[in-house]
Formats: sequence, C-alpha cells, structure tokens
Amino acid sequence: MKKLYGVIGLGRFGGSVCLELAREGFEVLALDRDEDRVNEFKDIATHAVIGDSMDEQTLIDLGFKNIDHVIVAIGDNVHASILTTLILEELGIKRITVKAQNDYHEKILNKIGADHVVHPERDMGKRIAHSIVSSNILDYIELSDEYSVVEVKVGSKMNDKTIQELDVRARFGCNIVAIKRGKDVNVSPMADEILKLGDILIVIGSDKDISRFEKKLVIEE
Ligand code: ATP
Repeated sequence: MKKLYGVIGLGRFGGSVCLELAREGFEVLALDRDEDRVNEFKDIATHAVIGDSMDEQTLIDLGFKNIDHVIVAIGDNVHASILTTLILEELGIKRITVKAQNDYHEKILNKIGADHVVHPERDMGKRIAHSIVSSNILDYIELSDEYSVVEVKVGSKMNDKTIQELDVRARFGCNIVAIKRGKDVNVSPMADEILKLGDILIVIGSDKDISRFEKKLVIEE
C-alpha cells in the first residue's frame, strides 16, 4: 500500500516537503491554519485543509491517525510545534519528523518523542560552508553532533593512488565507504582500489577527522 504522509505547516520548508512528496507520487494530507497557504497547495497535495493542529479533534476528524509519517513544519511558533508533536504522539503516529527552530526546541522535541528532528537552516548553513571551502567538497551530511558523511571529488592529491597508499583510516580515522565513478558505485572498496581524478568518494568519520582529511587530501590551493 502507498505510504501516507501528513505535512503540518506550509511555509517555505513544509511547502517544499509537500511539493516533493507529491511529485514523488505519494499521498499527502497538508494542513495549515492560513487559508492563503492552503489555497496554494490545493492542486499539489492530495488534500489541503485549513485547520489548527493544536486542536486534537481537528487532527482526529481529518484522519491523521491513519497517516504513516507526519512532518511538523511549524518553525517560528515553538509552542504550536511542541503541542502538535505531543498530540500526534498521543494519536500513535508511527513516525514524526519535526522542524526545530533552535537547540532548546530540539531538546524538548527529542524528549517528547519526535522520531526525527531537523534543523534545515543550520544544516544547510554547514553544508554550504563546506562546499565553499573547496570545489572538491560536494556535500556534507551531519549524522550526529560528532559524526558526518562527506562527498568529495578526487583531485591531484589522491589521483592514481590506492586507498592503502593514502592510508585514510590510519592517518585520519575516516573510512571511504563508497566510490562513485561515472554511473558505477563501488560500495566498500578494497584497499588496492586505485583512485582516479574525478572519482567521487563517500567518506564517513568524526567532524574533527574529516576536517583533517579534507585539509590534507581534498582541498587544493
Ligand atoms: P518557513 O521558515 O518554513 O518558511 P514560516 O516562517 O513561513 O516557515 P512558520 O511560523 O515557521 O512560518 O510556520 C509555518 C507554517 O505553519 C505557516 O504557514 C503557519 O500558518 C503554519 N502554522 C503555524 N502554527 C500552526 C498551527 N497551530 N496549525 C496549523 N498551521 C500552523
């Protein structure tokens, strides 16, 4: 059966989540208390409804209990975001993703049982900062406060070298978990794999270790 999604709050973040889910062909129930926002999504979401998510009965009447995954995209109104998450939790929603406004908000959301807390502005800021540092750093995804995954391009410092020669794990404490070469993806590459200019490496490690790896082998003056 097709998965059902709910998006509460149709600001820039919630709106773009709703749009992408609909584009991917999923059924989306969108809710916002602002009529204009709801009208914008009438032809995009499966159902776009005006309502206050802090009202439990509204969520029950709309059938939120049957939704597999709800995204709470109310950022500015921390009170509304927390109360909505609590109600969804009590309704027994299987998966709840919530946009946090700040660290304090995130802490509370984790305490009350949000499955996944996202911080789009902060995360995007970090990703952009990494990609600005070098054109060889393609992406940066935070896994936790300490660990991240980076996508980097092989430049002259790694060209024609094997993973063993570069000794990334021993020297920097990071692991190359995959190599993308054109359309091919080599997951868990062997130590004797020779890296080529333009290969894309997926590297996992602590932020400190990734930063050392990037400085030594990725960033080129
Ligand atoms: P973004 O940063 O994603 O652009 P925003 O700044 O436009 O968001 P927010 O205050 O974070 O706005 O709220 C996002 C949306 O959530 C708004 O469209 C707002 O009407 C809606 N919203 C806020 N509180 C509730 C609520 N209790 N019930 C339903 N919708 C709500």
